[in-house]
Amino acid sequence: MSAVILKGAPVAQGLNARIAADVAELQAHGITPCLVSVQVGADDASRIYRNAQEKKAAAVGVAYRRVDLPADAREEEVAETLRTLNCDPRIHGIILQTPLPKGMNLDAMQGLIAAAKDVDGVTEANLGAVMTGRPGLYPSTALSAFELLKSTGVSLRGKEAVVIGRSAIVGKPVAMLMLNERVTVTMCHTGTQGAGMLAYHVGRAEILVVATGQPNLVPGAWVKEGAIVIDVGINEVDGAIVGDVEFVPAAERAAYITPVPGGVGPLTVTMLLRNTLLAACMQTEIERR
Ligand code: NDP
Repeated sequence: MSAVILKGAPVAQGLNARIAADVAELQAHGITPCLVSVQVGADDASRIYRNAQEKKAAAVGVAYRRVDLPADAREEEVAETLRTLNCDPRIHGIILQTPLPKGMNLDAMQGLIAAAKDVDGVTEANLGAVMTGRPGLYPSTALSAFELLKSTGVSLRGKEAVVIGRSAIVGKPVAMLMLNERVTVTMCHTGTQGAGMLAYHVGRAEILVVATGQPNLVPGAWVKEGAIVIDVGINEVDGAIVGDVEFVPAAERAAYITPVPGGVGPLTVTMLLRNTLLAACMQTEIERR
């Protein structure tokens, strides 16, 4: 194996220390950034994710609150909860955990979160901010993938990047973050695969970001020698967690590669907390260092 393994934890550790220092400074002004997680119904993956949020929030001094609504809650009840949180000046960040119960309109519910408190970066205002390069609360998973890419120290300008997956909160914003750095970006999706062109695009990618939720979609043999591979996928196969890229053979060809688990995932909560800090600063008009 020749690639450098891009683990999320060490990058998160450095960022957490900076977040904790900034939170302490805010607290000196009498403000404690507060993140509220809203969950509708029960979900095992969400429960694990929320526990990680709570633990990491405590470690950096961010207050963490849970609001739990029953699985049979009506959309109007969820909407009312979000409106109340939007108006509460003690709350700086809101995350609506997914999945929502079947039949509930995710876009409509997410759209009710005030953009200034949308620390997961799911509202149109914040997605628009990534698109234009304006300041905003960018999607935390996309930020995590981008932070790992930057952690290589490799100059990004002019590089050929391929992103597989075009979701609004992962694929598209990662592509925009790279585009804003003057990376040349190609987006791939099921249409690319249907046209038989996926291997071609992967083979010329100096930076490859894969976010599809398809286990081992990208065979290691496709990866360009010396590429940076960021695997966002989280898939369970026979009780084990694997990514969207065939890790061992890909690591033999790539210069850098993220492991799954242990790559993008551990950084995502850090980005959520960094956004909560940023949101608290913006709402209280206190400048961050
Ligand atoms: P979505 O299901 O919203 O999007 C998947 C994308 O992948 C779509 O654009 C789809 O194309 C594309 N795709 C699916 N199958 C193929 C294929 N065979 N060939 C080419 N493209 C394909 O997923 P998300 O963006 O929400 O999540 C992607 C992955 O990232 C998942 O594994 C998820 O678990 C993981 N994830 C990880 C997080 C973390 O913190 N590490 C956080 C969030 C997500 P099309 O548009 O044509 O349908």
